This record gives sequence, structure tokens and C-alpha cells, in this order.
Amino acid sequence: MKEKLLKIIGLEKKTPYIRDFFFAANIRASIYMSVIIAALELWMIIRLLSRQLNGIDIRSTDYYISHYFNYGLLLSAAVAMFIYAVFFIKGKKCSKILGYLLKWAFMIICLSFGIEISVADYSRSEQVFTFLTMELFAACLLTWTPIVGFFIITVSYGIFYFSLDSTIVINSQIIGTTDATKINLFIMWIATLFCSFSNYSRTMSQAKKDENLEAANRSLHTISEKDELTGIHNMMYFRSESEKKLSEENRSADLRFLFIDIENFKSYNETYGFHKGNELLKKTAHLIESRFSGSLSARFSDDHFVVLTENTGYQRVIDSIADEIKQDQGDVQLNLKCGAYRPKDDENDPGIACDRARFACTSIKKHYSLSCKEYDTVLEDRYRLKHYIVNNIDSAAENGNIRVFYQPIISTDTGEIVGFEALSRWYDEKFGMMFPAVFIDVLEEHRQIHKLDKYVIERVCADIQAERETGNECRPVSVNLSRLDFELCDIVGFICETLEKYGIDKKYLDIEITESALSSCSDLLNSSINKLRELGFKIWLDDFGSGYSSLNVLKDFRFDVLKIDMKFLDGLGTNKNTSLILENIVSLSKQLDMVSLTEGVETPDQYKFLKDIGCGRVQGYLFSKPVPKNELKEKIRTGEITAHGQI
Ligand code: C2E
Ligand code: MG
Ligand code: MG
Repeated sequence: MKEKLLKIIGLEKKTPYIRDFFFAANIRASIYMSVIIAALELWMIIRLLSRQLNGIDIRSTDYYISHYFNYGLLLSAAVAMFIYAVFFIKGKKCSKILGYLLKWAFMIICLSFGIEISVADYSRSEQVFTFLTMELFAACLLTWTPIVGFFIITVSYGIFYFSLDSTIVINSQIIGTTDATKINLFIMWIATLFCSFSNYSRTMSQAKKDENLEAANRSLHTISEKDELTGIHNMMYFRSESEKKLSEENRSADLRFLFIDIENFKSYNETYGFHKGNELLKKTAHLIESRFSGSLSARFSDDHFVVLTENTGYQRVIDSIADEIKQDQGDVQLNLKCGAYRPKDDENDPGIACDRARFACTSIKKHYSLSCKEYDTVLEDRYRLKHYIVNNIDSAAENGNIRVFYQPIISTDTGEIVGFEALSRWYDEKFGMMFPAVFIDVLEEHRQIHKLDKYVIERVCADIQAERETGNECRPVSVNLSRLDFELCDIVGFICETLEKYGIDKKYLDIEITESALSSCSDLLNSSINKLRELGFKIWLDDFGSGYSSLNVLKDFRFDVLKIDMKFLDGLGTNKNTSLILENIVSLSKQLDMVSLTEGVETPDQYKFLKDIGCGRVQGYLFSKPVPKNELKEKIRTGEITAHGQI
């Protein structure tokens, strides 16, 4: 109830935005008022001056003084108000108190003047126009809260009325205003009040509308600049702000882009769930923002963050953040990796700078002792190569610069070749022969790996077909697939189509999928593997034992061949545990009805050991390196590749 009353009289609590809106509305209104009044008063002064000089309508000195004074006062008030309003509207710093004082002074002067002129002239011609004009100007064009408006209007009408009353004299007797004038004045008073109140409520509703719009605008702006999960800035903001910083004329030479990655975040997410993962991201984001305060920081994507800083001691800061994060790591070894890039003077593109910092960061991914790496000339060469690979994979495939090499797979039972693994090589005019270690990761990172794999599948099928046409006996070839192949294209459909195109039975093509691909298994990958299996393809588990989740993978999927990672052979002969582990893996694969295959066999001792423990197949330099088809055929023809000579 009290609040309703306060609202009616305009004394409810107003937000700073609404107060500012009213203030600005008044200043804008006073511009029009002040211009009209200044022009009017100037005209009045000139008119009076010309009358005085021309001797028309001669008056007493007092008359002139009082009139010049009044006109001058009104003119000065109007000019002062005008100057203030122009400064305010141009966005110059203006004292609000001065604004309020001017508004009040202007209002009082206008009304007093209106009252004085109208009272003075009333007796002559009953004119009230000046008073009414001033009333409309000062009480209705300017916005007053209802209670203040009521006060101003009532007091000014009261003064006008009583002054008038005492001025109307007939035969030295005050007779006061007529009833008609009283009624007219009463109606005018009411009308002026209504005008003032309605002006107030219109301005108020406009102010509220604007305030809501402004709030919506602000929140939209915040959303567009902030990362939803962590609340720190997003990349859109980072990009535009860093662009400004880079284009500053005297930018610091120490300016560096940092790319920060939480190491093992994926495992943390898998172990502790998304909620905990999100909490970790938030914590990291806020640590980065606060420890790099004064710098620009943002979430890049997933568990990646970027910073643009002049802090040359960034390495210490990263280590201190890593220490804090490790407090939450539980069973997962968390750490931070950071790549730094110092842009050259003429470089203004934050996108490229972040990409280079990221490249530096990725380069130390598997170096456990390193937490920070600055982008240098060695990385620059690798960076260029990476871009070269991404930009040239299509033409390399088209021009036959991708070649398929074959490495034989030997049966330990018979010592004979039982199959081949297809491995790609890239022959490049500029960089010479490139091994998969150079281009596979790059193609995966840039989601182009399916182009290579499709090409290899097609080449392998063409080679098998050519071989069959010669009437020679064919052995199956296994191809390596990336996890991304299942996302980036319909690889299962492609394999079937290609086999059909070359008229080849599926028994000639086996599929190798690495263990690491399966550790972050998606529904799509899962269903694709099942489909391949249903279609009758043999699925091999590649690089078994190279990741963390080898046994889980065996639990969740069925494989025909288990390819044991070559790192198990490293300690053979020196480390007793190695032989024990290998024995157990081989026996486990038998129990799970899988053929075991060990890769990377380089010595006769290794081969003998593997044969003795019952490992069904072997592959390695001992028999042959991966070689081109013709070289392989020659080696087979000459009987160079068998296990017999190795036993
Ligand atoms: P992988 O499938 O485990 O292939 C075996 C790798 O071990 C090959 O390396 C092979 O040359 C090497 N290797 C074989 N025997 C020995 C040995 O006795 N000693 C040593 N030290 N190494 C041996 P490569 O050809 O460099 O391929 C590396 C990896 O790249 C492959 O590992 C495979 O995962 C991937 N890869 C190769 N070609 C392709 C391809 O066309 N597509 C996809 N998605 N991946 C491919
Ligand atoms: Mg393989
Ligand atoms: Mg392998």
C-alpha cells in the first residue's frame, strides 16, 4: 500500500538507470526550451531598445532597468542551460549537481517571469499567455516527479492568482479577479497538472522499457563474450581483443600467446565423470584468469585455454597453477602443458598465433618432464610441414605420391607368410619420403585421415586384384583404420563398395584398429565394428598394451587377432617380467579365442622365444621391412622371406 502511494506521487525507489534517463530527458527538453526562450528574450531586448532609442512609448528609467534586468536574466538562464545541455549531449563530463541546479534555476526564473509579465499585463488586457507558456515550458516540458510537479504548479498558480487578485484595482479599491477568471485559472491549473503527470508517466514507462532493453542487451553481450561453462572470456572476445592489442603501435616485444592444455583431462573425465570434469575446467579457468590478471585469457575449447600476456615469467605461473590442479587429481596424473608463441612485429593474426602456440604445446605432449615450450625455428619447420601435409593430401593421393608398402606377417607354426600389413608412405617432391609418424597425427588432428585410409584401401584392393589376375595365390592384407574414419565417412560402406568394385572377397582384407582408438569408444565406432564383424570381416586389435585400457578393450570387444605392441620386446632377455607378461598375453589371447601376433620382431632370439610361448604370428624387420609391392614379390620369389632360416 505504502509502496503504491509512493509510486503514485513518484517517490518510489528509482534505479540509477532510471534516474539517469530522467536527467538526460530533462536536459534534452531544456535544449528546445532554452533556444526558444533565448530567441524570444533577445527579440524582446532588441524591441525594447529600438523603442527606447526611437523615442516610441517613453517609459521611466526604472521601467527600462527592471525590464532589461528581467530579459537579461532569462536570456542568461537560457544560454547557461543551453551550454550545459550541449556539453552533456556531446558526452563531455558534466556535473550532475550543476545540471539539477540549472534546471531548478531555469524553472524558477521562467515561472517568475511568466507570473510577473502576466500579472503586470493582466490589468491591461487580461492576458495570461506568458504565464501559461512558461508554465508549460517549465512544469510540463521538463519532467518532474508528480509530488514535485504538484508543488511547483500549485505554488506558481497560487502566486499568480494572489498577485493578480491584489493587482486588480478599480477606484483605488482591490476588487480581485472575476469568477470566470478564477474558474479558468482553476481549469488551467488542473490541465497543467495533468500535462505534468502524464509527461512523468510517459517518461517513466519509456525509461523502464529502455532499462529492460539495456539489461537484455547487456546479458546478450555477456553471453556473446563469455564461455558458458567456465564464465571466463570465450574465443570471440579473445580474438577481437587480441587483434586490438596486436595492432597497437607500441606493442610490447614480450607479448606472447600461450596455449594451455590439461594433460590427462580425458582420463579424469572418464574416471570421475562429467560433473567433476566440469568442476576441474572451472577451477583451471579461474586460476588462469586470476594468476594472469592484467593479461587476456579465454577458454579455447574443451580443456584448452589461451592467454595473451606480457609476463615473461609465465612458466612459473603455469607451474603454480599446475600445482593447484594436482591437488584434485586423485588417481589420474593431471598436469598442465603450455606452448608459447611470440608474434613477430608484422604479425597481427591471433588465429595463427594461437595455432602456433598450440603446435608448441602439442610438441611436448609426450615429454613428461616438460611443461612449457616456446615456438622456435625447429617447430617452425615442423609447423610448415604440417600445413603442407593438410593442404596437399588430396593432390598427393591424386598424383600417386602416396604409396602402399607391405610388410609380411609370418606364421610361427609353418614359418611361412600368412598375410601382409599395408603401411603408407608419402613420396614428396619437396620433403622426400615421409613416414606415417610425420603425417598420420596431422591428418587426424585436421580430420583428413579418411582421405588417406580410403586411398590405401583402394590401392590395396587394386593390388590384390592385379595379383589374382596373374593367377598367383593371394594372402590377406590388413589395413589400418583410424577411429576418425568412422566419424568422417561411411568407411564400412566404402570398404564393401571397393571390394565389390575390384571383385575381391572379404577374406582378403582384414581391419586393424588400434587400442587407443577404442579406449574412448563412441556408439558409432562400436556399431561400425559390430557391422564389419557381421559382414564377415576379421578385426584385429593393433598395438595391444600401448595404452591404459588394454584389458577393458578386450572385455568390451571381440577380436580375431591380437597384435602385441612391439615395446614388449624391448626388455626381452634382460627383464624377467617381460617374458612373463608376453607369455601371459599369449595365453590370454588363446583363452579368448584370438590369434596372437607380435610386431617389431628384429632378432632370431625374439622369434624363438615367441614361437616357444605359442605366439601364433610375428611381424618385423627380421623378416622384412615394409617394402613396395614389386620388391615384396621379388623377395617372395627368391624365398628371402621365410622364418625357416631364422630358427
Ligand atoms: P602399426 O600399424 O603398428 O605398424 C607397425 C609399424 O611398426 C610400422 O611403422 C612398421 O614399419 C613398424 N615396424 C614393423 N616391424 C618393425 C620392426 O621390426 N622394428 C621396428 N622398430 N619397427 C617395425 P610405420 O609404417 O612407420 O607405421 C607407423 C604406424 O602408422 C602404424 O603402426 C599404423 O598405426 C600407422 N599407419 C601406417 N600406415 C597407415 C595408414 O595408411 N592409415 C592409418 N590410419 N594408419 C597408418
Ligand atoms: Mg597396424
Ligand atoms: Mg601396431
